[in-house]
Amino acid sequence: MTTRIVNVLVPVALDQAYSYRVPAGQELAPGDVVTVPLGATERTGVVWGEGHPRPGLHNKLKDIIGKLDVPPLKDELRRFVDWVAGYTLGARGMVLRMTLRMGEHLGPARDRVGVRLAGAKPERMTKAREKVLALLADGMARAKSEAADEAGVSVGVIDGLIDEGTLETLVLPPEPVAQPPNADFHSPDFTPAQNEAARAIRATVAAGGFSATLIDGVTGSGKTEVYFEAVAENIRRGRQSLILMPEIALTAQFLDRFAGRFGVRPAEWHSQLSPRTRARTWAAVAAGDVSVIVGARSALFQPYTDLGLIIVDEEHDPAYKQEDGVHYHARDMAVVRAHEARIPVVLASATPSVETEVNARRGRYKRLHLPERFGGQYLPVIEAIDLRREGPPRGKFIAPRLAEAVQTALERGEQALLFLNRRGYAPLTLCRACGHRFSCPNCDAWLVDHRFKRRLVCHHCGFAMPLPEKCPKCEAAESFAAVGPGVERLAEEVAGLFPDARVMVLSSDLVESVERLREELGDIAEGRFDIVIGTQLVAKGHHFPKLNLVGVIDADLGLSNGDPRAAERTFQLLHQVVGRAGREAGRGLGFLQTHQPEHPVMKALIAADRDAFYDAEIASREAAGYPPFGRLASIIVSGGEKHEAESFARKLAAAAPLDDDARVLGPAEAPLAVVRGRYRFRLLVKSPRAFDLSNYLRGWLAHAPRTRGTLKLEVDIDPQSFL
Ligand code: ADP
Ligand code: ZN
Repeated sequence: MTTRIVNVLVPVALDQAYSYRVPAGQELAPGDVVTVPLGATERTGVVWGEGHPRPGLHNKLKDIIGKLDVPPLKDELRRFVDWVAGYTLGARGMVLRMTLRMGEHLGPARDRVGVRLAGAKPERMTKAREKVLALLADGMARAKSEAADEAGVSVGVIDGLIDEGTLETLVLPPEPVAQPPNADFHSPDFTPAQNEAARAIRATVAAGGFSATLIDGVTGSGKTEVYFEAVAENIRRGRQSLILMPEIALTAQFLDRFAGRFGVRPAEWHSQLSPRTRARTWAAVAAGDVSVIVGARSALFQPYTDLGLIIVDEEHDPAYKQEDGVHYHARDMAVVRAHEARIPVVLASATPSVETEVNARRGRYKRLHLPERFGGQYLPVIEAIDLRREGPPRGKFIAPRLAEAVQTALERGEQALLFLNRRGYAPLTLCRACGHRFSCPNCDAWLVDHRFKRRLVCHHCGFAMPLPEKCPKCEAAESFAAVGPGVERLAEEVAGLFPDARVMVLSSDLVESVERLREELGDIAEGRFDIVIGTQLVAKGHHFPKLNLVGVIDADLGLSNGDPRAAERTFQLLHQVVGRAGREAGRGLGFLQTHQPEHPVMKALIAADRDAFYDAEIASREAAGYPPFGRLASIIVSGGEKHEAESFARKLAAAAPLDDDARVLGPAEAPLAVVRGRYRFRLLVKSPRAFDLSNYLRGWLAHAPRTRGTLKLEVDIDPQSFL
């Protein structure tokens, strides 16, 4: 009898699946999750396909150790893993790793131990024991830890009663990860425009098959309510839905809204889940016990049994791009996955990415338009404050006109948001005596003053040091000057201007935990603060009913970094931030403090003329051959020695295959030339849209010189960051 051989892909940095022998009697099919020996360890892997017996090699192959008791990964998911790896040039094992995210936690869930009354009288009675017996007197079983909690005793008390035979233990069925949602729990009364969109989206889901739909509408127009209709239809059809969110940690409000619509909260998937919840959720998704998952980008790689719909909320958000490990864009990959699975994908945004806007204009994506805010509230009125003419006093950052508007908001009992996308107190600290600037020893970056934490911090590598007493260069004392504002410095200015206002500073570095952040956002929504000072953390998706005024402290920040998407990003971010104003209480007001009120981004925001912005941006991308009219890939070469990194980058460029369609630019020193002590050089490859850039790169890298020593090469297809 011949031994069967299968190829097993293991979630490590390997592109190749390895051959293993299948022990006699073991039944295995592609997609089965197995344990295999790898080097000196055992790994969980997935049967990727049949292997081919090769004479001679046969006896060197190792045996599969065993099969895990989890549902096999579907063909569709394995094809998706292959596709993503092929496109991004990531190792297939690393893509698979995102699917097997729970790694060693795989396997049957731990038993839940329950207790109930058994009958025997306890040898002696105590107050604590009485409480337990009173609680369990109804004869019902309860989880051990819950029984202890409810009775207000330690688990030890319960263990004692078990030992004496007063209580008995039993295995409880596992608690479901999420209760089944009810598609018809509470449907809203739609406006005519919403109704039209809702009808269309339900029909799209009912029709099934691949399609891409853009729900395009200003913030507050009911995009979420409308895509809930798609989810409802998919629930009715008994299929699983995935709702992707850019920043899942901030979505407490969303979970509650979901519960308001469907009666229960959805299951969640993101990096902050405990390992146990993660394992349980994974298993439940794979078993088809979860109907709706709300998740961050990694949820795309979950092993759904019957995925029927993908929603990508805030589809334009840069957080969808993963910048380490496998460089992938979750929005783009969501469209790919929907295509592989032949299901609808729905993108929602008030400011679609230029890519999506072009797809909608060309009819590749269907556009559902929601023209106005629900309830007829006006969009905020936006004005520029020209910093060249009416800027703040020296050393201050709030212009008089903005300060006045804040004052008025306070008098009316309304909230104001001051937006500054910069953490810390000041982005630069220098010595007034000698001009010394504090910079990171590992990176090509200034140290940011974080006064709340009493530290100078590098935002690229995390290096931190206390601010010294004296200048390390000239030894002058008390000579330091903070240059430029961060949110903490703004808070200081606000405290001076509005001493009685209740102020909240929201910035990711000040957030202790997701729960804490959720509470703080809840406090703001309930009006417990008058002025909110925040980074982009506050820009996303929150609904603050009392907020009517938004002031953008530095609207130009981010426009000047040489990134092809700088204008788009700035437009989206500012649009979203000022869109926080006036969501409920009527007319909102937004101020943009800028040095260039004539910039197309500012003009479009002020005129509320979104199309003008897209027209201009699309035309300029087309002229420059930038995405989506052309393709880009970037290669970063980094290394511990500058000359080594540079000469390797040059050799790499020299090895690029000649092709009329591919232009290789560089190497050039990356804008962030040093990070964590590594010198960085960047190559940019540009091609027409129809060109298979991934394939070109694969061919190139296969024949390129190998990295040695500290050298590292990172490929980023469709780069979003150009630092
Ligand atoms: P978007 O996703 O476009 O920002 P939302 O769906 O969040 O808009 O809607 C904004 C607010 O208006 C939410 O509080 C939502 O519950 C409410 N809303 C929207 N449409 C309706 C409706 N037809 N009936 C009741 N409330 C609605
Ligand atoms: Zn650093």
